[in-house]
Amino acid sequence: MADKPKLAMYWAASCGGCEISLLGIHEKILDVANAFDPVFWPCVMDGKKKDVEALPDKGIALCLFNGAIRTAENEEMAHLMRRKSALLVAYGSCAYEGCIPGLSNFYTAKDHFNAAYLSNDSTVNTKGVVPVTETNVPEGTLTLPAFYNTVKSLGQTVDVDYFIPGCPPESAQVLAVVEAILSGAELPPKGSVIGAGTVALCEECPRKRDVKRIKRFYRPHEIIPEKDVCLLEQGLICMGPATRSGCTALCPQNNMPCIGCYGPPPNVTDQGSKMLSAIASVMETAFEGKSEEQLDQEIAEVVSTIADPAGTFYKFSLPHSLLRRARPGTAQKEKTR
Ligand code: SF4
Ligand code: SF4
Repeated sequence: MADKPKLAMYWAASCGGCEISLLGIHEKILDVANAFDPVFWPCVMDGKKKDVEALPDKGIALCLFNGAIRTAENEEMAHLMRRKSALLVAYGSCAYEGCIPGLSNFYTAKDHFNAAYLSNDSTVNTKGVVPVTETNVPEGTLTLPAFYNTVKSLGQTVDVDYFIPGCPPESAQVLAVVEAILSGAELPPKGSVIGAGTVALCEECPRKRDVKRIKRFYRPHEIIPEKDVCLLEQGLICMGPATRSGCTALCPQNNMPCIGCYGPPPNVTDQGSKMLSAIASVMETAFEGKSEEQLDQEIAEVVSTIADPAGTFYKFSLPHSLLRRARPGTAQKEKTR
């Protein structure tokens, strides 16, 4: 047991789905258990931070780190796991690019505390108490980790060896990565995205693209889409053109638009901008005989049918995007009121 390479899995700002996704490899988890000695995996075993601190640097062969960096505790653990791990993998969309926790970058920490503790209909907080990092009580000082204004990805915090996208990563892809590591096969260059495809999702989607032009967009509950036709061409915002392949187009195959959880395709820096250009290519606007103002008006009408464009196009990638976050005090603040 002592000679086996050591394995860790850590959970920072995330929902926990990534932890479960590793179990989605079914009986192959036994191969993982045979090949590795799990030394730190707070979701499934009782390991303490001090146990990790006691290990030699790089003493953990592989750490699958899921979750974004939201608090001082997340950041401290990211540095600790980096120091103690030979291979640090950003596992899942939150660690890779910020994901749903990263949407909070449209707001400030103060906005969040206001919404959660002060100004909502289900909270009575007449003294206006909000969490603070230190509280003195007769027994001593109680501490809480600082809640940061901006959510960051793991790669924006520490050096990362590999990135596995997905919310959560698809089990077949996880299995392929685990088997590659177990077999001792040569791994791709450091910094690569692994456990995913190398093209845009549309290329693995079986739906037919027909170059249809659309006059408005719909939310999924507003229409019943045709079975085999591209969802984007039916007016549903499907992020396929701006998303990396690798999940077998799971959502479009089940009549739901892709929401972009595998992040941008290779060579695309900003998933939201890529999607904007895809949207422009399916919008129906007749240019002939129209003034610039008329065209602007028509385009604005079509775009106005997209609910929450920023949240839709950057649902998984805001911290990792060119935008990274909203300027504090800008329009998004109005949405919280
Ligand atoms: Fe498939 Fe969506 Fe791409 Fe259309 S936009 S081809 S539905 S992945
Ligand atoms: Fe994620 Fe899109 Fe694949 Fe659905 S279709 S699993 S949202 S990448």
